[in-house]
Amino acid sequence: MSRKAKLFIISAPSGCGKTTLCKRLLKGKLGLAYSVSMTTRPRRTGERNGRDYYFVSKAGFQKQVKRNGFLEWTKTYGWYYGTPKKNVSNLLKKGKDILLSIDVKGAVNVKRLYPKSILIFIAPPSIKELKGRLKKRNSDNKKEISKRLKIVKRELSYVDRYDYCVVNDSISNAVSKLKDIVIAERCRKG
Ligand code: 5GP
Repeated sequence: MSRKAKLFIISAPSGCGKTTLCKRLLKGKLGLAYSVSMTTRPRRTGERNGRDYYFVSKAGFQKQVKRNGFLEWTKTYGWYYGTPKKNVSNLLKKGKDILLSIDVKGAVNVKRLYPKSILIFIAPPSIKELKGRLKKRNSDNKKEISKRLKIVKRELSYVDRYDYCVVNDSISNAVSKLKDIVIAERCRKG
């Protein structure tokens, strides 16, 4: 029986371990393709252009906006982020299930365009723990951390719009739940 390719969208407040979880999920032999976003944010240590993001200038990003090249885009933490339309449509045409790791506003916008998208929210075990994790991260400076903390509470208020909420209490637990969600959604009728 043939079935339509699915869009899995994962969002989480900064510092919830979303990047690690997504990487593990992609390595998890589920055959998920990753939608690489475009951003104007500077590259962090260890990040690779074309794998983690397409790192572009503000002018380069705006060119894509003018071309209507984004499925959705947003400005968050002072930087622009967008999901290139072509990548997603090419992968869907190939029948590939796609993983999008985008913010809450982007997730809601994609759900509007693709109502069958599956929205998964990654929540921290507690706000206190999240603050600690953000502070431990030395790839962001202090100003960046406080900017991100302010946004966390607003992001948490979106959880009710999601189909699933996975608490990242331990990476292996959370990855295993994410895999279960993908498997269950693939068995869903219709
Ligand atoms: P970071 O700078 O930590 O990689 O990402 C900051 C936020 O931007 C995260 O919530 C991340 O999910 C989100 N983000 C990354 N790419 C996109 C995108 O293409 N669209 C939207 N709406 N958000 C994105």
